[in-house]
Amino acid sequence: AKGDGRSTFRFFEPAMDLQMQTRRTMEQDLRKALPGGEFELYYQPVVNLASNEISGFEALIRWNHPKQGMIAPASFIPLAEEIGFIVPVGEWVIRQACVTAAAWPEHLHVAVNISAAQFRSPGLMQVIVGALAASGLSPTRLEIEITETVLLQNREATLSVLHQLRALGIRIAMDDFGTGYSSLTYLQCFPFDKIKIDRSFVKDITENAGSLNIVRAVAALASGMGMTATAEGVETSEQLDTITSEGCTEMQGYLFSRPLPVAEIERLFLSRRET
Ligand code: C2E
Ligand code: CA
Ligand code: CA
Ligand code: CA
Repeated sequence: AKGDGRSTFRFFEPAMDLQMQTRRTMEQDLRKALPGGEFELYYQPVVNLASNEISGFEALIRWNHPKQGMIAPASFIPLAEEIGFIVPVGEWVIRQACVTAAAWPEHLHVAVNISAAQFRSPGLMQVIVGALAASGLSPTRLEIEITETVLLQNREATLSVLHQLRALGIRIAMDDFGTGYSSLTYLQCFPFDKIKIDRSFVKDITENAGSLNIVRAVAALASGMGMTATAEGVETSEQLDTITSEGCTEMQGYLFSRPLPVAEIERLFLSRRET
């Protein structure tokens, strides 16, 4: 059926119309969401496995759609990237995360996801520097998470931005490591402070020798290169035991906490305690 493109197209025509309509509606809604104040950042704790203490939080965007309710980023980030809307949304994320984290105790960092399109936008450095200045957040408390998609194109320009960020004291994390086009040479060529091992490897680490070997190898590599190795998506205590004994230095996952609204984060994890 694959070779017969025309009949396939005809067969799917009504469905495609509907899809395009949905997409157009979503695009229009997306453009209204920013001025409408419909975006919200949730935060997920990142735990240091040596001290058993929270080292920081990853900011994860949510869209409180007026009619559809809460929409997860996987359902709108790709479209936002496609229509170039990720740049203003991403700027909002950076500013918001910096303001929020500036109110937290100084040893806590905040991690922000930067998509490839946003990373290549000419105003990125200015936005970051501006957000740090306006919030008073120390650059050493900001972490930028990028995926290998960012590294695929325009290597020189990418390196230049990464070096500028690091010169400011900002940390760089390689997100979703092991998926997509990840290559070990990236770790040598680009200046990362942290590798985030993708959830897909952590998920079946206790049953699948292949996943276990990958986590072990990446943790060893990170350690050898002076980088932090964060295991993502840790859901069970068995997974936690395994990633710890395999040399991961940080964990993030539902076992410790789901991503939560900032008020919940502050109430549960940051409320002042007498010592
Ligand atoms: P990511 O950067 O890999 O973020 C981790 C995702 O894993 C989050 O999904 C988080 O809720 C989920 N997660 C964390 N722990 C667990 C666990 O133990 N089990 C399971 N099943 N899931 C867990 P979320 O918040 O839906 O975000 C999905 C993706 O959307 C993110 O993946 C990131 O690529 C993108 N994203 C989120 N916020 C932003 C943003 O502000 N800007 C950009 N450019 N992308 C974002
Ligand atoms: Ca991330
Ligand atoms: Ca990730
Ligand atoms: Ca991801």
